[in-house]
Amino acid sequence: MSVKITGFETHDVRFPTSLTGDGTDAMNTDCDYSSAYVSLLTSSDLIGHGMTFTIGRGNDIVCAAIKEVAARLQGKDVEELFANMGKTWEYLCADPQLRWIGPEKGVIHIALGAVNNALWDMYARSRQKPLWKLVVDMSPEELVNSAAFRYISDAITKEEALEMLKAKAASKAEREAHVRQVGYPAYVTSAGWLGYSDEKVARLTKEAVAAGFNHFKMKVGADRDSDLRRGQIIRSIIDDPQYLPAGRKPRDPNGPDLVGKNAGPTGSVLMIDANQVWDVPQAIDYVKSLAPIKPWFIEEPTAPDDILGHAAVRKGLKPYGIGVATGEHAHNRMVFKQLLQAEAIDVCQIDSCRLAGVSEVLSVLLMAAKFGVPVCPHAGGVGLCEYVIHLSLIDYIAVSGSMERNVLEFVDHLHEHFLSPCSINENGRYNVPNSPTEGYSIEMHKESIARFEWPHGTYWTNEHAVAKANRAAGH
Ligand SMILES: [Mg+2]
Repeated sequence: MSVKITGFETHDVRFPTSLTGDGTDAMNTDCDYSSAYVSLLTSSDLIGHGMTFTIGRGNDIVCAAIKEVAARLQGKDVEELFANMGKTWEYLCADPQLRWIGPEKGVIHIALGAVNNALWDMYARSRQKPLWKLVVDMSPEELVNSAAFRYISDAITKEEALEMLKAKAASKAEREAHVRQVGYPAYVTSAGWLGYSDEKVARLTKEAVAAGFNHFKMKVGADRDSDLRRGQIIRSIIDDPQYLPAGRKPRDPNGPDLVGKNAGPTGSVLMIDANQVWDVPQAIDYVKSLAPIKPWFIEEPTAPDDILGHAAVRKGLKPYGIGVATGEHAHNRMVFKQLLQAEAIDVCQIDSCRLAGVSEVLSVLLMAAKFGVPVCPHAGGVGLCEYVIHLSLIDYIAVSGSMERNVLEFVDHLHEHFLSPCSINENGRYNVPNSPTEGYSIEMHKESIARFEWPHGTYWTNEHAVAKANRAAGH
């Protein structure tokens, strides 16, 4: 009997991260990490969960948009939707009325991201595979048919994509076995939020080195002297072999995995992130002055839509050996296409739910592989680490075939709210999700939803005022 989509539920879930300064940077000073969450229901017990990330107010607006997009799936046969996920994506994207409040940007597009991801979660569950495994087991034809290809054929054609995937197909099993064994390389952002004191930064950096990490990211852009001081604190720890875990040898800073990353003597790498605060000339000037802390790249130096601006920043910083990364606010595949065509980025930072779900991410992975730019997904937010490990595994196993120069962001917040939280091994690398029932790993505990749902969850009605008062009183 055919299984049909019968309805959906949405939840506006907000976590009070603004109380602790988690997630603070030069632009976002007061974030409550939030999830606009959707569950797609069917005529069987098959279900699909998805979400997109916001940082607080406005999460209700995204939930309203999700309802509009998800309503288009009511009554659809799930196998017909799964049979061509690229076509399904286009159908959802091309609502003849909703498209006016996009198209392919803003609230309507991130809402589509939540719904598309929920559908992919359902597809993976229906095949009893984690999402990444569903995708890497596809034939090259199936994978290309699952991607959102409209408007990118000037950068990559379906035929070129097929050739690339076929060239990698024979060695997929080998890469899968390897990454299952060693895990996927990760980097830490949790040590370097702007809202943290120097002492907290030093303590968290030491903890991260001890946990096996060797790529570290710090937020910059509010105050140059403070950035240099915090950068020097971090470098003094990550460059000092005494803090390495017992028995760990320094990595060769000029080895193939690290060359060009400004790695220090222990093989540790520092990245910096400005979250869009500067104009273009100011970005070049400011980052030049941070050259003493030897960053690999500056992330989001300027407005996320300014493709030629990023190209100018990259050109201006090239003599200083500092690269440019961006993408967490790039709202669709066309922005990535132009960033690649304009040679504006050294590192491509896809976001799992600002792009409209797995289908659009696949098209960006294909373009980045063609242009030879490494993909290091964005994951600073609730649920994003759970999502992105799947995307990096797809990139490595099926698309680009490269892993050791890539690093996947890891932020150690809020994982306890998920049924299948991501995890990190003793070498600072993501473990490979492996449960046949976890889909896209984004299902949230019912208790977490009930407690943190805005504005009537028990945290917001009973606990928040007390937590805030305690905070103000310095407890
Ligand atoms: Mg960032």
